[in-house]
Amino acid sequence: MTRAADDKMPAGTTAGTPQILLAHHLKQLKLPTVLREYEKLARECARDGVDHTRYLLRLIELELIDRERRTVERRIRAARFPAVKSLDTFDFTAIPSLNKMLVLELARCEYILRRENIIALGNSGTGKTHAALALGLAACQKGFTVAFTTAAALVNQLMEARDEKRLLKMQRDLAAVKLLIVDELGYVPLSPTGAELLFETFSQRYERGSTIVTSNLPFEDWTQVLGSERLTGALLDRLTHHVSILTMNGDSYRLKQSAHRRRATAAEQNQATSTD
Ligand code: ADP
Ligand code: MG
Repeated sequence: MTRAADDKMPAGTTAGTPQILLAHHLKQLKLPTVLREYEKLARECARDGVDHTRYLLRLIELELIDRERRTVERRIRAARFPAVKSLDTFDFTAIPSLNKMLVLELARCEYILRRENIIALGNSGTGKTHAALALGLAACQKGFTVAFTTAAALVNQLMEARDEKRLLKMQRDLAAVKLLIVDELGYVPLSPTGAELLFETFSQRYERGSTIVTSNLPFEDWTQVLGSERLTGALLDRLTHHVSILTMNGDSYRLKQSAHRRRATAAEQNQATSTD
């Protein structure tokens, strides 16, 4: 044992107290599940006549499973999703224009290995953000680093970073994530500098990482947001070189839900008055 480890040991621990020493070592080795489970599992293995090797194997497997779960949770927190949504709660029948098979295929995340992009286009309330969040979650679960932002927030942060002379670091960080999700391109027109910075972000990720963009505007209207025809052309060129397009035009799910709720309430009220 090294001196440093000795120094960190709680006072009064000696070789005569193996549980305390073991707990200390397991903490140092960062094996919290082994620490939590080893006694219980030892009792079970003794009862069932499981040998030492198999006991150790089971214990280490528990640690591995837990570690994977903790890593996924960390990735989800790091992605900064505004909400955690999955495809399990996505109703494909509500949006017939969307290619369900394509979305399910994309959820397998092979496009991320190929560094391809996804663009979801459609009017407001059709589930673009929901779909992007679900694909982001799937990527976290498959082991990819993800960052979620809106176009407006991203551009603000890039401008702030530029003013504070930390643009290079921010651009490096943005280029490093395996999947960058830029939601809501189109709601806010960008300043010339903002558009330029957004273009640089996409450009630096080109063929290096995947990007998902959602927009309420068809491509021909992107110039309105980005200001310049030349910049829009160059940006679309990079973004759409390897891309899957999700067409999400239809009735707003939000409006449909609230109309449904209004009808349900009206029906309840009718029932209440008729039984009065
Ligand atoms: P958009 O980003 O296209 O404006 P959202 O993804 O924000 O739309 O959807 C609006 C709300 O409706 C969200 O709460 C979302 O979870 C829900 N929603 C939209 N489409 C669907 C769908 N097909 N199935 C389940 N929920 C949906
Ligand atoms: Mg949205």
